[in-house]
Amino acid sequence: ASPEIPTSGDHTGATRPHVVLLPSAGMGHLVPFGRLAVALSGAHGCDVSVAAVLPTVSSAESNHLDALFAAASPGVRRLDFPLAPFDESEFPNADPFFVRFEAMRRSAPLLGPLLAGAGASALVPKSSVPQALHDPKHLFTQQFVANGRGLVHADGVLVNTFDAFEPEAITALREGKVEPNFPPVFAVGPLLPEKFPPAKEPAGYMRWLDAQPARSVVYVSFGSRKAISPDQLQELAAGLEASGYRFLWVVKTTVVDRDDAAELGVLFGHGFLERVEGRALVTKGWVEQEEILQHGSVGLFISHCGWNSVTEATAFGVPVLAWPRFGDQRVNAAVVARGGLGAWEERWSWDGEEGLVSGEEVAGKIKAVMADETVAKKAAGVRDAVAEATANGGTSYRSLAEFVGRCRDAG
Ligand code: UDP
Ligand code: UDP
Repeated sequence: ASPEIPTSGDHTGATRPHVVLLPSAGMGHLVPFGRLAVALSGAHGCDVSVAAVLPTVSSAESNHLDALFAAASPGVRRLDFPLAPFDESEFPNADPFFVRFEAMRRSAPLLGPLLAGAGASALVPKSSVPQALHDPKHLFTQQFVANGRGLVHADGVLVNTFDAFEPEAITALREGKVEPNFPPVFAVGPLLPEKFPPAKEPAGYMRWLDAQPARSVVYVSFGSRKAISPDQLQELAAGLEASGYRFLWVVKTTVVDRDDAAELGVLFGHGFLERVEGRALVTKGWVEQEEILQHGSVGLFISHCGWNSVTEATAFGVPVLAWPRFGDQRVNAAVVARGGLGAWEERWSWDGEEGLVSGEEVAGKIKAVMADETVAKKAAGVRDAVAEATANGGTSYRSLAEFVGRCRDAG
């Protein structure tokens, strides 16, 4: 059992230990570990995670793992443990199981994050792990792991969040639950957007916002780089139209905007732009998002949950309807929902097995969130918490002051 892993309570209020089992390669190891898992989770009331070390050496092992998780009680969870990249040609002619022991030994540094992930699994399910990290050979994974190891050598880490918004994550870092030697964490966020003086020549979309009633507009943007598939884009268009609400939509149809040749009309088809004329503005260009989010006519932000967008929404108390597309955005979307900034339907995510989110579903959710006064109230509460954290004497203000103090002392 890992002492770092939090235990959970059952319905009697008693604590259930969480045991993580890491069988090494070979059926002779896997079989008794599976039996131990079943014994612990059954009569002995433990939560059990069994690490499935991947890739398995033999098909007997993969079949056995599949059967174990299919048959075992719900108390036994599968914890995929992809090994670090390993060059087997270093050991020509060696027994594949011995080679595997060596690969596992060298992957030991990955165990910390694996266990942290298992402990926090109610908040960060595997599906929330950035896509690239599922592949240990991926360039991003290699960089991420190397950078992660390097982090412990830093004298401190500044994070763009604030205590009241992400208390569990910040506490876990500070108390060494993520990594025992983690350096001091300075939660200095959110780094506040600039307040804009009224522009002499306001952009067209700002003039359009000026003409809309307070909190009536749904602002839709999926960030600066990641496109949405054409099919999903059409469903989103249908949903925005069917919602009946006003909307300002910043459409990015390819990964970088200079490639952006598709005509909006062609994308949406069937006279969409004509039908929504007057109550909607659709643009492919770059907008000043900070300016938009602080405009009083904006009542909802449909966002991919890039972290900057999330922090900007906190600063102005704009409720977010989360629709993560990529990378860390599912994790961020969960923070949005947990932190009271807005809502997230977990099915609304990057394009996957669950298929498209239909226009009907989009319209229904927009209507529900726009009509829900508590959503707006909670988001306003987050804005107030931001003001408190960043004001002189607030947690983020003090963290930054402490950071500067340490820099002075070091200099
Ligand atoms: N086993 C099996 N079918 C086979 C070979 C092995 O079910 O065709 C199981 C066997 O029941 C035992 C495990 O695999 O649980 C092998 O472990 P053991 O310690 O007996 O031998 P090892 O393979 O480690 O030498
Ligand atoms: N942004 C903007 N106008 C646009 C698109 C994006 O001002 O048309 C800004 C947005 O306010 C945010 C940043 O660009 O500060 C995007 O960062 P984020 O982390 O939200 O998402 P990413 O683009 O990195 O996925």
